[in-house]
Amino acid sequence: MNAPRPPDDTRTPVRMVAFEHLWTPAGWLAPGLLGVDAGGRVVAVGEPPADAGAPVETVRGFAVPGMPNTHSHAFQRALAGRTESGSAASEDNLWTWRHAMYRLAERIGPDDLQALAAFAYMEMLEHGFTRVAEFHYLHHAPQGRPYAQRGEMSLRLAAAAADAGIGCMVVPTLYAHAGIGQAPTAQQQRFVHSVDAFARLLHEIDEPLATAGARLGVALHSLRAVAPDELRGAVQAAATLRDAAPLHIHVSETRHEVEEVQAGLGARPVQWLLDEVGLDRRWTLVHATHLSETERRGLAASGATAALCPMTEAMLGDGLFPLVDYQREGGHWAIGTDSHYASGVAAELRMLECGQRLAHARRNVLADAAAADARALHSGERLFGLALAGGRSFGDFAAPLTPGSRADVVVLDPASPALAGHDAATVLDAWLLSGAADAVQRVMCAGTWVVQDGRHHARKSITRAYAQTVRRLFA
Ligand SMILES: [Zn+2]
Repeated sequence: MNAPRPPDDTRTPVRMVAFEHLWTPAGWLAPGLLGVDAGGRVVAVGEPPADAGAPVETVRGFAVPGMPNTHSHAFQRALAGRTESGSAASEDNLWTWRHAMYRLAERIGPDDLQALAAFAYMEMLEHGFTRVAEFHYLHHAPQGRPYAQRGEMSLRLAAAAADAGIGCMVVPTLYAHAGIGQAPTAQQQRFVHSVDAFARLLHEIDEPLATAGARLGVALHSLRAVAPDELRGAVQAAATLRDAAPLHIHVSETRHEVEEVQAGLGARPVQWLLDEVGLDRRWTLVHATHLSETERRGLAASGATAALCPMTEAMLGDGLFPLVDYQREGGHWAIGTDSHYASGVAAELRMLECGQRLAHARRNVLADAAAADARALHSGERLFGLALAGGRSFGDFAAPLTPGSRADVVVLDPASPALAGHDAATVLDAWLLSGAADAVQRVMCAGTWVVQDGRHHARKSITRAYAQTVRRLFA
């Protein structure tokens, strides 16, 4: 695992990076200078501080902020491409896919989880993500026996993140029921905690995760798997942690889920959360695919974030989130790679845009002609700038690439054919929407270059461990 980072208290750049083009919330700079301190934080943007005197590294290409990945189940990377034959079931959807996911989940031990996660995290870095929120419910050994160290699997995820060099928030998940009022099945025993045991887990891993360089979030699996009193107990437990933990929950991924919650709790899932819990900016609602108009407006006004996972939602046949109306109402949203059918910023945002274009029979559905900033007219810029709200899911409300933010930078290769002839005004349209091979050349994570020439520095060893693990798991 990582050694603890040195305290971020000096505010002195230990080095300056001069990017040929640098994206900032206020517009592109050319060149754009970034001062980075010893803790991997941005301390200067644009101009060097008068007393800098730090060495300057020059980087060609277009530099943009690293994207937060707000929803990941890292182990499910091993399942992508293994559930694509037609099912004999009358309906082939998330629930039939889940049988295969459970069969994989019951075979995974701590070493397996670390190898699979390190690979998933490496792929994310190579395709533009620099932080991941890992929604984690594989807590116990098969049959539900706790590991000697209760937080073993949570700490293995932090170790995998350190192996890959990605920023990580481990989000342990409370899971208690197979459905509303239903006892968990034998396969689900690995996931299950009482509220008290879950609170003990959170407190036991809080400090070790920080030592490993990871953050701690708290998840309720869903309103199907967590009863109202359990949800309130877990939210209270989250409030007793050292830092205010962001709260994540799956909601309304399928119509079946909405119907079950409506029958069991008397309201649709998002409406129930709005009325009974009160949503605010601490909350991330994962999927939120099926919303009534009232729910959509309430969610947009709440300050919570909708975590959209476009490739996974498409591959599982979930449905389409009402993004255009939600965006018009000022709602916050973010992207996640969930089951990792794609691990890239471009693939997820392209799928998101394509789905909305198909649903509305219209092009450039998010472009904002009324905005003062001409960048809002470009779908690539618009998608990218809005998806950066994913930082909120990590409890981080600082604008990216401003002083105090993490020095997470993705550099697009100016020699990539996909970007030929583009300038800063259109380069994000080209990267995200041209369908070309990925143009990511270099990635800096918390001030450290982890990807150079399009390849992660530990690609060989992480890939070998992943392939060996997958072969064994599916033997
Ligand atoms: Zn999920």
